[in-house]
Amino acid sequence: MATIKAIEGRSVHQIQSGQVIVDLCSVVKELVENSLDAGATSIDVRFKNNGLDSIEVQDNGHGISPENYETIALKHYTSKLSTYDDLTSLTTFGFRGEALSSLCALSKFHIVTARADSAPKGTRLDFDVLGKLKGTSVVASQKGTTVVVENLFHNLPVRRRELEKNIKREYGKVLGILHAYACISTGVRFAVSNQAAKGKKLTVFSTKSNPTTKENIANVYGAKTLLALVPLELQFELQPTRGSTQSLKNWSTQDDLAGREVTISGHISRPVVGEGRQTPDRQMFFVNSRPCGLPQVAKTFNEVYKSYNTTQSPFIFANLKMDTNAYDVNVSPDKRTILLHDQTALLESLKEALTKLFEEHEQSVPQASF
Ligand code: ADP
Ligand code: MG
Repeated sequence: MATIKAIEGRSVHQIQSGQVIVDLCSVVKELVENSLDAGATSIDVRFKNNGLDSIEVQDNGHGISPENYETIALKHYTSKLSTYDDLTSLTTFGFRGEALSSLCALSKFHIVTARADSAPKGTRLDFDVLGKLKGTSVVASQKGTTVVVENLFHNLPVRRRELEKNIKREYGKVLGILHAYACISTGVRFAVSNQAAKGKKLTVFSTKSNPTTKENIANVYGAKTLLALVPLELQFELQPTRGSTQSLKNWSTQDDLAGREVTISGHISRPVVGEGRQTPDRQMFFVNSRPCGLPQVAKTFNEVYKSYNTTQSPFIFANLKMDTNAYDVNVSPDKRTILLHDQTALLESLKEALTKLFEEHEQSVPQASF
């Protein structure tokens, strides 16, 4: 039998990084989340050649202090979480301190940053593949941080080829994710541009620093989209699922009860036929404003909608607000998967509340006007 020995550090880092940054979507998602966590009110995302050549995210957030230059891209170094218990009261998007260190391992990577007290003078930070600071230089910069990722996966030939082959689809998925962040982030201006390999820079979409999600949706999808939407306002307390002793046990204290209230707010297509086709990529789900995939929740929404309108799929923008103890974001490295602790009960209540909402709208909207 071959000798068992530890994998060399650099290789471990590369293996793990490839699980955090799995595709173009993870890059963009991690960088935009960092900008939002830094309190940015303006975020520019610039792609070159659909992201194949470079992805640049510039924000006007609080910047990085010089004492953090050395540690910022080291693995598991974060300003957001220090113990496991902090996870349940998390209010930031990030918490694992893995994104920047992973990007160092998988791309040509650098940062330019300036704090309010140093702008218009900023600092460029360069790192080695392990995320160790290699050097700094003084450059011009407004307050905020710009992260530049060039040549993603240049050192993982198979993944690079996959990315090149599927770039159109990947880029489309990235825009879907950016739409979700731009729509949910009130008070934040987003501008997304793309520059073709030999072309000029084109604005893909932008939002103003709007006070409401409705205005954000109008900026992203066009004001006409709003005409087909009704407000989504649902509120319910999760009932224990029948026959589940576990749920009943969890219900034993007043505290548990208080934590079981769920509200869902947002916008959804009217449940009537003939409002123009809405494609499923215009379905966005959030838990406490964190964009995420909620396949079962999506399925319930679509099923209930189908019983009113069999020919079209709805536009959905649904933000589920619930106690931070009621779910777990630490399921997958990209944090897109969220584990809802009492999903069965949630789906039952959701179905009931949605049916009621659609019935009200069906009655109040005269069919003849569409
Ligand atoms: P995490 O977000 O999980 O903390 P990251 O690797 O994404 O891990 O980032 C590491 C740290 O770098 C963050 O905790 C934060 O302090 C800092 N940081 C990253 N991006 C920015 C940014 N755009 N502006 C200010 N600080 C940032
Ligand atoms: Mg992060």
